[in-house]
Amino acid sequence: MPGSVGGPRILLRRLREVMAEPESAQKRLDKIVVLIAANMVAEVCSVYLMNGARELELFATEGLKPSAVHATRLRVGEGLVGDIAAHARPLNLADAQSHPGFAYRPETGEEIYKSLMGVPVLRSGKVVGVLVVQNRTRRHYTEEEVEALQTVAMVLAEVVAAADLIGTEPDEPDLTRQRPFHIAGTSFAEGIALGHAVLHEPRVHVTKLIAEDTELELKRLEQAVYALRGSIDDMLETEDLSHAGEHREVLQAYRMFANDRGWLQRMLEAAKTGLTAEAAVERVQNDTRARLQRAADPYIRDRLHDFDDLANRLLRQLTGVTLASLSANLPNDAIIIARNMGPAELLDYDKDRLRGLVLEEGAPNAHVSIVARAFGIATVGRAEDILEQVEPGDAIIVDGDTGEIYLRPSQEVISSYSEKARFRARKQEQYKEIRDEPAVTLDGAKVDLYVNAGLQVDLPHLEESGAEGIGLFRTELQFMIASTLPSLRDQIDLYRAVLDVAGDRPAVFRTLDIGGDKMLPYMNLASMKEENPALGWRAIRIGLDRPALLRHQVRALLTAAAGRSLRIMFPMVAEVAEYKRARALVDKEIARLDKFGKEKPASLEVGTMLEVPSLAWQLDTLLPMVDFVSIGSNDLMQFLFASDRGNPRVATRYDLLSPAVLSFLRHIAAKCREHATPLTLCGEMSGKPLEAMALVGLGLRRISMSPAAIGPVKMMVRSLDVGKLEAFMEGLYGLPERSVRSHLASFAEDHGVAV
Ligand code: PEP
Ligand code: MG
Repeated sequence: MPGSVGGPRILLRRLREVMAEPESAQKRLDKIVVLIAANMVAEVCSVYLMNGARELELFATEGLKPSAVHATRLRVGEGLVGDIAAHARPLNLADAQSHPGFAYRPETGEEIYKSLMGVPVLRSGKVVGVLVVQNRTRRHYTEEEVEALQTVAMVLAEVVAAADLIGTEPDEPDLTRQRPFHIAGTSFAEGIALGHAVLHEPRVHVTKLIAEDTELELKRLEQAVYALRGSIDDMLETEDLSHAGEHREVLQAYRMFANDRGWLQRMLEAAKTGLTAEAAVERVQNDTRARLQRAADPYIRDRLHDFDDLANRLLRQLTGVTLASLSANLPNDAIIIARNMGPAELLDYDKDRLRGLVLEEGAPNAHVSIVARAFGIATVGRAEDILEQVEPGDAIIVDGDTGEIYLRPSQEVISSYSEKARFRARKQEQYKEIRDEPAVTLDGAKVDLYVNAGLQVDLPHLEESGAEGIGLFRTELQFMIASTLPSLRDQIDLYRAVLDVAGDRPAVFRTLDIGGDKMLPYMNLASMKEENPALGWRAIRIGLDRPALLRHQVRALLTAAAGRSLRIMFPMVAEVAEYKRARALVDKEIARLDKFGKEKPASLEVGTMLEVPSLAWQLDTLLPMVDFVSIGSNDLMQFLFASDRGNPRVATRYDLLSPAVLSFLRHIAAKCREHATPLTLCGEMSGKPLEAMALVGLGLRRISMSPAAIGPVKMMVRSLDVGKLEAFMEGLYGLPERSVRSHLASFAEDHGVAV
């Protein structure tokens, strides 16, 4: 059986010589395919690269007809080459032509070659091409040969990236990272921020790929993995994990991966083919990235983040680069760039120096986004490729209103955004001016505007915004940012602080809404893995099934509110029976206070969120039992339309301003009016002036929103004639359209409503 001549290490050395020669990229490729074919004793070696049209174009070949070069092109998924690119994995076939994916291209003359081994050419986890060898005989390529070809493909990726072959510029530093770059992401927190980029986890650039001494590299790799495992164990043993900015859950996943023998083994195999330890880490990470990105299971895709972090940690271990102290070197206008992060990590930064946050992944209703909103940090998420494009210190503009990001913006963009920021500041001034004015419509309808809160840092916003109370206090946030379960004392302290700040204004405490996407780092996750967590064991379902946690919390609330007014609300109630059980638990705790002669709240109101549609069909039974109802439009929307609120594919498919949603909400508002039960809406819908206008038009008179929205929404209310709007909306509920947004916008425009 033919084998490799001189082995992969010799080949790598030859490749290094070719790369050092002052030649054009095409000539280099032509030489490289000859070298590979000879070294691997293959009759054919071909390089296909992704061209501007996203086709795999034959760029160089040894063995196929030279006239096919730049003429043969395959789509991703087409033929065996296309298959390798589509799945980002090697193919090793002794009889390629009998493979169902084989696509015959007569111009190449490849019909005489039976066997084929091909590997993807990967850069930063992306397929930039395919490298193939072929033989006339039915040859079985060994695992070592596949491994060697993958290593060569990694070096090849550097050659093509350093040249202008796949659209990048030839010289280091990479010129693409010097040009202006625009990303259309998703708005996670409103605001405009102009500042400079700070990488949450600085990247390590691997510059030296080919090893001088392979034995030494193997040793370095083993030592680094050993040290990495030790450092993760140390972190897990650290008492105050929240301060270290780490989550136990993530660290435990790291520990599992770091101890995975397969991972180390694959890196050692890669190093044995002649790569440096750093390059071996990167090669295996490239493979992992490419594979996981294609996984259908979102849980597996999410693990990619963990693997990336781990590989980066290992690279830092190898190169001795340490994380600079987070706040020490922070510029005054820092814009933090991360793949994703937890709320505690964001809280670690000096808030006075933070202007913006950009996440490559993330979700608008994930806890880090909620904390960013509470801080007033302009945040954009799902910013595809930001980490690939950004250099530390780059000038960057984050438009948290539209989700746009301008990296290295031109002077024109800077001027226009400076103007936009000034305009916003002027608007803020106007909002301040009406801070103490009531939110009353032109025709005299009073609308109560409340704020949503969840952390101690949110509390000053109540006063600053001029809101009339706290419509939703998300108690789970305290649990989510802590490293261990908050004690009864911690809970009492926070609830007392909330009541102190609220004074005579109402504050509605929602009991723990955990589960779904709101995981507690210290909860046992293994038993919580669910197919559909949003529809799973969460919120009041956990509260009722494991009543100790809920009882503990209710006790803390009752204690904190001794002698004062208390309002408690339950999340995710789907039926009256659930509400009754939760309410009974509160009554039992009050009886306990009586029994021990402890002071009770001066008054108590108990209500429920309405965010599961089923509850809307029991209102005649429910409303006489509750003191108030609050609609959670975020969850209600996803359940009403069966569209996951965190899934970007469907999150914007349906519109809140649709006949379906508006009719549904009108039904609830009418029922609550009939029963004289106070009704609020506390989802994100209330914070947008046009949506808030529609809510007032369909009958709501109390809405709760993020503090920054109070000014714009009050401005809207004060410019609205609700009688006219009600009449206008009568014509909208029955329309056969997916959205009536444009109708409502026209109404606002025609009637001078400030939206
Ligand atoms: C909602 O679902 O609308 C809501 C207010 O609750 P959360 O966003 O915390 O789920
Ligand atoms: Mg909810």
